[in-house]
Amino acid sequence: GRLIIRQTHAVLQTQVPLVRDKAFINGAWVAAASGKMFDVIDPASGKVVGSVPDMDAYDTAKAIQAATDAFQTWKNTTAKERSEYLRKWYDVLVKHHEDLATLITAEAGKPWKEAHGEVSYGNSFVEWFSEEARRTHGEILASPTRTKEMILIRQPIGVAALITPWNFPIAMITRKAGAALAAGCTCVVKPAEDTPLTALALGHLAEEAGLPKGVFNVITSSRTNAPQVGKLLCESPLVAGISFTGSTAVGKLLYKQSSSGVKRLALELGGNAPFIVFNSADIDKAVEGAVASKFRNCGQTCVSANRFLIQDEIFDLFIERICNKMKTLAMGFGMDHSCSLGPLINTAQAHKVNTIVQDAIKKGAKIHLGGKPASTLGERFYEPTLLTNISESMMCYNEEIFGPVAVCIRFKTEEEALTIANSTRQGLAGYFFSNDVPQLWRVAKGLAVGMVGINEGIISTAEAAFGGIKESGIGREGSHHGIDEFTYTKYMCFGNL
Ligand code: NAD
Repeated sequence: GRLIIRQTHAVLQTQVPLVRDKAFINGAWVAAASGKMFDVIDPASGKVVGSVPDMDAYDTAKAIQAATDAFQTWKNTTAKERSEYLRKWYDVLVKHHEDLATLITAEAGKPWKEAHGEVSYGNSFVEWFSEEARRTHGEILASPTRTKEMILIRQPIGVAALITPWNFPIAMITRKAGAALAAGCTCVVKPAEDTPLTALALGHLAEEAGLPKGVFNVITSSRTNAPQVGKLLCESPLVAGISFTGSTAVGKLLYKQSSSGVKRLALELGGNAPFIVFNSADIDKAVEGAVASKFRNCGQTCVSANRFLIQDEIFDLFIERICNKMKTLAMGFGMDHSCSLGPLINTAQAHKVNTIVQDAIKKGAKIHLGGKPASTLGERFYEPTLLTNISESMMCYNEEIFGPVAVCIRFKTEEEALTIANSTRQGLAGYFFSNDVPQLWRVAKGLAVGMVGINEGIISTAEAAFGGIKESGIGREGSHHGIDEFTYTKYMCFGNL
């Protein structure tokens, strides 16, 4: 079977009611002071779907000031009030579910079904943090003396800068903003240049929900201006913390830049997830989990399986079954509801994926499927690819692929699998399939990652703590831990009692 290719051309989504062409600062819709704009491209068709302000440090300072002013009031709201505001925002987001999904497909190329899934997932953080807001509290300590009482209270850190990537245009923002607002912080959001429309729509819907002005600001900027925007957010004494999701390279830069102010920092960076299948595993379930983990969002998720490690005995069977499953993936334009694979986000990413595949082939990898761009569809589409005969010197072994490329490595023992799995500088997610009960605990503990899927390929949810170790980042998002990033603990000692 050949790869199924869908060539239905999507209707361009310029009529979506939520499309905005101005940034959202202090509850007002504003252009860049320079008057500059940049285009937003539909990666499937290559057509322009919108145009937004290209803001620089000057506009950023305005947004920081707005958030600073709004914080004076917002920090004194009660947890119940913040909970209610978030709940209203959630209700408005739910009401606009369809429009938001359409926007995501238009600017990120995400297949329709996945775009809908992301809206539900993204909205779930606003709902979750509207609930968690009321469950964030301090502690009363057992005093060692009769004359003192000691309590710990939690206070919001202040203005939070939220810098987000394009791969989940809603969820990467709501996961941060939900927690920040629940904690009592105000925020300045700087979305990725590829997906600013969805971010601005979130601003519009925050306005519709009645969030006070200046509490949630969205500034947009091109790749050219992003460094100066980021630098000011890191260096401004008015910003208390940075929460960033994106590449490890940019994360390290922000870490450096915010060190002078010893700023609070949460970093969700790149992963290199191992996906291990042991001999005892249910192969069909493992294949299903593998395909879900690898090909969701065309491989452009930080928790995507990057290296499949398959035990000797079942290696050939696994390759055969996963190839069969991959052949059923339908690639094409996101608005075609039967599509399960869209384009990569932009030409640079498509080029990077091909470079990684060609490097592997040159160094001796064997292609079972794909191995080249799906050029009949357009320059950003890439055929689902499966490679074996992998060696450590290959880029695909060491780097995050961020594309529809499955790389399969054979191993013999559990120890060997763990050594290979942990031999990278990243440590975000890891997965394994096994039906050997003692092995489940051993391997889950042994993987050097922040999150483990055990007989499961999809793990992200608002209830769980999301985040990595090593160069995959610091801090956690979602769960009650997400709020910790935006609060500090204040110790109060009452004496002479
Ligand atoms: P990126 O680092 O290039 O961009 C992320 C954001 O940073 C964008 O908003 C971009 O405009 C901004 N940016 C770029 N240069 C900047 C600078 N000098 N100062 C301040 N901001 C700057 O990453 P990307 O290509 O958009 O996203 C892909 C990466 O994100 C992958 O590595 C992926 O693993 C990672 N990611 C991680 C998680 C996670 O939770 N760990 C989730 C999604 C994506």
